[in-house]
Amino acid sequence: MAETSILIVEDETDISDLIRFHVEREGFLAKVVHSGKIALDVIQRERPTLLVLDLMLPDLDGLELCRRLKWDPVTRTIPILIVSAKGEEADIVTGIELGADDYVTKPFSPKELMARLKNILRRQTEQLVPVGANGKQLTIANGALVIDTDRHVVSAEGGRVDLTLTEFGILHYLAARPGFVRTRDQIIAAVHGDSAVLSSRTVDVHITSLRRKLGRLGKTVETVRGVGYRLSEAVASNAVDE
Ligand code: CA
Repeated sequence: MAETSILIVEDETDISDLIRFHVEREGFLAKVVHSGKIALDVIQRERPTLLVLDLMLPDLDGLELCRRLKWDPVTRTIPILIVSAKGEEADIVTGIELGADDYVTKPFSPKELMARLKNILRRQTEQLVPVGANGKQLTIANGALVIDTDRHVVSAEGGRVDLTLTEFGILHYLAARPGFVRTRDQIIAAVHGDSAVLSSRTVDVHITSLRRKLGRLGKTVETVRGVGYRLSEAVASNAVDE
């Protein structure tokens, strides 16, 4: 397997140095560039495994870079971890909708940054686990939550949970990539396509109902303030321990 190379796009040297230090300590290759334009050039030439991307850059800003990378079939699949200043929630939402995988806000703890980075790398290689000839199931929280995507059946800690079609759709969408935040608009698009039956506010209502039905595992459906929702495996294991 090729070595894992991380491209760090960040114009503030102290922050890029900090990220580089932790990336290299994990045994990954690290490269730092301080401008969006240079980043675009390096990415097209070297195709890094993952991009750590600051949004506020001097020339080509992070969102524009994100847009160009996701538009180009050659660079589309390179995962992006956004680093943004606090209070830039609108930009984070845009970035996630453009196809970025996750984000951290400054000031961030290196531990959190690396956890998110490794989560993206891990998920990139994982696939759905097929069960039987014509079904698939998603298993979350060490098996406490099982979603049978073929039969539309959900079980939480062994007990069957009856969900509405919309609740199932939301849970299924979030569970496809645990730990990754999804915006309300992404959830709406995934569950109902282009039809406007679901609004941002009704997403919140469905989430509340979904959490209630999941009982103790309801905590796995996390609110990411100002951005959206994600399904968390870590919270789930805590919930089971209580
Ligand atoms: Ca910056």
